[in-house]
Amino acid sequence: APIMSLDRVGKVFANGVAALSNFTLDVSTGELVSLLGPSGCGKSTVLRLMAGLMAPTTGRVFWPGSRIQDHRHEIGFVFQEPTLMPWADVADNVWMPLRLRGVSRKKASERIEECLSLVGLEGFADAYPRELSGGMKMRVSLARALVLKPRLLLMDEPFGALDEITRFRLNDDLLRLKRDLGATIVFVTHSIFESVSLSDRVIVMSPRPGTVAAEIRIDATPE
Ligand code: ADP
Ligand code: ADP
Repeated sequence: APIMSLDRVGKVFANGVAALSNFTLDVSTGELVSLLGPSGCGKSTVLRLMAGLMAPTTGRVFWPGSRIQDHRHEIGFVFQEPTLMPWADVADNVWMPLRLRGVSRKKASERIEECLSLVGLEGFADAYPRELSGGMKMRVSLARALVLKPRLLLMDEPFGALDEITRFRLNDDLLRLKRDLGATIVFVTHSIFESVSLSDRVIVMSPRPGTVAAEIRIDATPE
């Protein structure tokens, strides 16, 4: 069953740029979908619409059966830049979404540990962002996105700034997360290799004006 649907969505920004036009996509529960396409083709716009961070100009974005507003906390978002709080240690950074929902540090500690171990950061709870490599910062960012147990994980070119080896390791972790958590993941990438090797489905977008150019279903995800 679809967890998220975009139905003939169009997005025109205030400056007149048409970022998307007649864009339709159903994301099924447990699916890993990648959005592939040249810079400016509307990939980030699709993710921001899915996250409810902005409204479509035409068409509909919805969780079948309910209102997107009721599900904001069920969506985890990983940005291209890790955007960690530099003054807070790793555990406190991961705590943030729970803290905003009124959960004390003490009550959150077990969940924080769980998420750190999910992303392979056991033992780094007390470290500060400045002490971490780019790949580790990205892991913290991922742990933070997972802390509320999102049903849908959205990632905007999460590994774009990382070296190939770190990228490769994180790709492995992503497949493990998908398998272990049954997570539904939509991610943006510029890498054809990454999208084909990781995804159940690749959505190829055409540059103008942000439509689906092709859709590729991948039968077996390599283990
Ligand atoms: P991609 O993620 O594929 O690089 P984006 O979704 O970021 O593409 O952008 C699609 C198009 O919309 C681009 O032409 C971009 O400049 C434009 N755009 C994105 N966000 C805004 C905005 N807030 N205001 C105006 N134009 C925007
Ligand atoms: P990405 O490289 O991840 O696709 P962008 O550089 O396209 O991201 O966009 C970064 C931010 O700038 C976004 O918040 C987007 O809304 C905004 N933005 C992008 N293009 C424009 C634009 N032409 N006018 C105004 N804001 C824009």
